[in-house]
Amino acid sequence: MANSSVTMDKLVALSKARGIIFPGSEIYGGMGNTWDYGPVGVEIKNNIKRAWWKRFVTESENSYGVDAAILMNSRVWEASGHTTSFSDPKMDCKRCKTRHRADNLIEAHSKGTVNPDTMSNEEMENYIREHQVHCPNCGGFDWTPIRTFNLMFETSRGVTDESQNKIYLRPETAQGEFVNFLNVQRTTRAKVPFGIAQIGKAFRNEITPGNFIFRTIEFEQMEHQWFCKAGTDEEFYQAFKKKAYDFLIDLGFNPEHLRFHDHDKLAHYAKEACDIQYLYPMGWQELNGIHNRTDYDLSRHQEYSGKTLTYVDPVNGERYIPYVIEYSIGADRLMLAVLSEAYEEETLENGEVRNVMHFHPAIAAYKAAVLPLQKNLAEPAKALAARLKKRFAVTYDEAGSIGKRYRRQDEIGTPYCITTDFDTLETGTFTVRDRDTMEQQRMTAEEIAAFLAEKTLF
Ligand code: ATP
Repeated sequence: MANSSVTMDKLVALSKARGIIFPGSEIYGGMGNTWDYGPVGVEIKNNIKRAWWKRFVTESENSYGVDAAILMNSRVWEASGHTTSFSDPKMDCKRCKTRHRADNLIEAHSKGTVNPDTMSNEEMENYIREHQVHCPNCGGFDWTPIRTFNLMFETSRGVTDESQNKIYLRPETAQGEFVNFLNVQRTTRAKVPFGIAQIGKAFRNEITPGNFIFRTIEFEQMEHQWFCKAGTDEEFYQAFKKKAYDFLIDLGFNPEHLRFHDHDKLAHYAKEACDIQYLYPMGWQELNGIHNRTDYDLSRHQEYSGKTLTYVDPVNGERYIPYVIEYSIGADRLMLAVLSEAYEEETLENGEVRNVMHFHPAIAAYKAAVLPLQKNLAEPAKALAARLKKRFAVTYDEAGSIGKRYRRQDEIGTPYCITTDFDTLETGTFTVRDRDTMEQQRMTAEEIAAFLAEKTLF
């Protein structure tokens, strides 16, 4: 894989042109930090989620899935601490009236050499003053003091004004896993250690400097909480660091584009925390987090709900509140990394440049494209496509020159293009072209089905 030529602008343009991702509410002039997945993008994102679910739930020993409600009892967010402390340090530029995150300003100004996570608000203000950090929008230097805003979106329930009740759109999926800890444990008869996973939407009222789908106000998280006994937590923390990393390598990431970053400033309940960062087009940024959250979450929910959340060891009767190792990754942030990693502008021997997305075949929107060389060869092509579609996501295209059709499939990362030619009519074989090597081989329909099954497995 080569992605040295990738830029964010190129990814945005390609995504729009090829039906991967469109700006949100575009015909109304858009809405900042919202994006809509198109026909190709939704397939890719679903495949990313499927690969993750397979690795962390169905293929895993002792991990179970849930799909909890987005709207939760407000007490959940009091217990988790989100109502009091889920905020970002923000400053307004008085000149152009844009709002910015003080920590992001410092990170960008110092090119990542200063870590604002360890700074108080006052220290951040001092840094910005002393280093004359200017507004990235207008170049001005006229900041308001830092103010903190809660990132949770509020809404209200109830049909009449009198019965209105403030509730929140969840800012993370994790709490849906914590509140169901005993429901899952009892119904699955799982023994600690075991895991609960969830994929779902989360919402944060973030201000962001753009960066496409990297940071949006509505996004999907894939989270896995591993419940274990205190004392075994360090071993599982290390195991999840490895599992999270291996998942990315198996998706085809270049190890040189990934690195671990330990948190210097830990949340008060966390024992250890790190991110895996990816080398995005705008630089190294968090792709996912792994946290040792101790017994904080379950203890808080036990305290606030008044319901006991202790686990009883079936062998020795010991009662305890398990520790939690959390692994959390944004599906959209992973999608951006996958797009960036897959992108290549390849110069061919004849000097032509082709844009190709080298997705892992399991992630590609279509596993194969069936392309008749000429319109009068459409019949066997359509029959093959119909047969393959029963098992795989396959697309069919007969419009335009074969060269153009190959390029279109290369740009959306279809790993195999299958053509029908005159030999097909005589021998019943098809030509299968490999996206990456552009080599071709002949196969029968049956062989193609077996080939795709093997190649597209994750
Ligand atoms: P950041 O420091 O980038 O704001 P975070 O540490 O607040 O992220 P977590 O709360 O740990 O992030 O969320 C877990 C994961 O969810 C992140 O690693 C990221 O992949 C994803 N994520 C968080 N916020 C957003 C967002 N606004 N847009 C897209 N993905 C997000």
